[in-house]
Amino acid sequence: MLTLVEEGQGNAAIIMPAEATEVERFAAQELARCVHLISGANLPVYLGMRESIAPVSVYVGALDHWPEVAERLESEAVPHHPQGFLLRTAPDALYLLGCTPEGALWAVYALLSEVFGVGFIGLGAQGDEMPIRTTLNVPALDRSEEPVFPYRSFLTSGNESDAPPGSNVISPLQSDRVDWMAKHRATSFLLHSGRLRADDVARHLLGDAARRGIALEWSHHNMGTWLPSKVYGRKHPEYYAVRNALRVDDTATQLCLCTSNPSVVEEVAANIVRFWEEHPWVSIVGLWPNDGYGMCECDSCAAMDRYDDETSRECAYFPDSADPVPVTEFDKNKTNRYVRFLNEVTDRVVAERPDARISALFYVDLLRPAPDHELHPSIDPMVALYWRCSAHALYDPACPTNRYFAEVVDEWSAYAPGRVAFYEYYMGMGEYSALPFPILKTLEADWRAFASKGVVGACIQSAASHHVAYGLNYAAFAALSWNPDANLDEFVERWLESAYGPAAGAAGRWWRALESRMQAIARGDAPPTSDARRPRCYTPTRLNFPSLWDQDRMAEIGVALDQAAESSGLSHGQRYRLNQLRTYHTFCVASAEAYGRERKAKEAIAAGEKQEDYAAGVVEGLNRLEAFVRQVGDPTILSAQGVLNRIERIRSQWTR
Ligand SMILES: [Zn+2]
Ligand SMILES: [Zn+2]
Repeated sequence: MLTLVEEGQGNAAIIMPAEATEVERFAAQELARCVHLISGANLPVYLGMRESIAPVSVYVGALDHWPEVAERLESEAVPHHPQGFLLRTAPDALYLLGCTPEGALWAVYALLSEVFGVGFIGLGAQGDEMPIRTTLNVPALDRSEEPVFPYRSFLTSGNESDAPPGSNVISPLQSDRVDWMAKHRATSFLLHSGRLRADDVARHLLGDAARRGIALEWSHHNMGTWLPSKVYGRKHPEYYAVRNALRVDDTATQLCLCTSNPSVVEEVAANIVRFWEEHPWVSIVGLWPNDGYGMCECDSCAAMDRYDDETSRECAYFPDSADPVPVTEFDKNKTNRYVRFLNEVTDRVVAERPDARISALFYVDLLRPAPDHELHPSIDPMVALYWRCSAHALYDPACPTNRYFAEVVDEWSAYAPGRVAFYEYYMGMGEYSALPFPILKTLEADWRAFASKGVVGACIQSAASHHVAYGLNYAAFAALSWNPDANLDEFVERWLESAYGPAAGAAGRWWRALESRMQAIARGDAPPTSDARRPRCYTPTRLNFPSLWDQDRMAEIGVALDQAAESSGLSHGQRYRLNQLRTYHTFCVASAEAYGRERKAKEAIAAGEKQEDYAAGVVEGLNRLEAFVRQVGDPTILSAQGVLNRIERIRSQWTR
């Protein structure tokens, strides 16, 4: 056992390589900072090897940069995965080493969370739960870690809602997220290039990401941004897709460009290369289709198509589909066009930047691999599991919804083995209005299954503004994508204990009741969801929420949460988090009431009753929900602005 701090007095020195990188310096500083917060002791930090300056030397750094330290370790004990790290004790030394500088940072965070009991729960100043201890001992350690899935990414779909309206300043919450991600070993932050400005990112976010080794991707629904019609449209209308015999702009269709036009390929590639020269910090550039549908109908694009039966119907699920059988349409010509275009652009980009990576999104009717084209080796494909069922695991044979997605994943495993990442929605969808999404059991089964599918990982659609609602899902994803065999029950137990302390019993009941209700829905032991065709499947729509929210049980747990607030021994952070959960609970009660009324009304109307008999009741429920949401001041509980926008839209359907 090593003693780093004894009765508040430092007994150790932190040592990093003489040529330490920014990330290694940050790792050493983080260790010193957290040890100080836990114990009050200040551990000195040195650059370069020192011997015997303190009873215990703590070495923090990357093996590659540090041959003097690397040669002390037996080579078989060193992780070989490029993202590996190790924690090792010797009689007078503690080694916190990574194969990369990020690995060293992860080793520091692993020590803090798993040995010292620090909880990395929320965002910002109140995010970490620091235990208070005057003595810090480290038991004998010989631990080597490496991830099963090397790509662990989170999205920001724009600026956060606390940023001043209309400003280009990047919200401080974005930096808080990058901080949280590093603590959970995420590798990248995917920035929506259509909604942020690269110069603003460089000014306000890049530094925080770089010192944590978090890569920044410039991507998302951005095809039009590489050839903006505002810039080119007047002079070159022929660059854009034809729809109904008219050239449209860069937003009007999913494949918004006339992809058979060689000048379009040249210009997009040149713009990507130029952008990369101006912003060399960008790790991956995306060339993703826009949201929506459609592609160019011009003769020269059509002449390159091969399949006459332009679309084949699929059975993916769309909750608002009016079709009696939910469908999406897979268009072989369209995926061929997309991949051909990607390959041609990538060829030109790689000619200028040989190590460039281009990200591609396969989504909705572009979901399946292209039948006639292989993917360029410099393309990283991402497959969006859009409107999958989350009550069932992806490979659960009992799930009629996910059968389709499982088939798609298998096709991708064969088409681009070892290259596929998912785009996933562990926050439900925008339409789900920040409601609880208890999917831990599903995540556990999914990530275990993905390990044998040649999957590299996932990017999770997410935002700071609903971190309280979905932070546990994000943390579970981070843990399972690192190690899908991790014991999730233990993980949740630790998370609850750290987040809520003496209130963990009541708070744990809240989270677990929802999780077990989701499982009951999947088994058919709970009220059916709002889709009569798939009553045991759960897609994140607000009308499904009343099936998830067991009013009586949750009311009782709500009382327990209030009582838990009277517990003694809550730390400041635990009290803060418990109050966040109580606020979120009240929001859920109001949401279940509002959407329960809406669902009943829709069912009654479908059975022949009149809308006007129900509209007032629905609007009243929505008004109450709105009044509550307007009172929520904390910007990280439930994405208030998104919920308010949604309420407005729903209400307008009932006040027409
Ligand atoms: Zn065309
Ligand atoms: Zn299902």
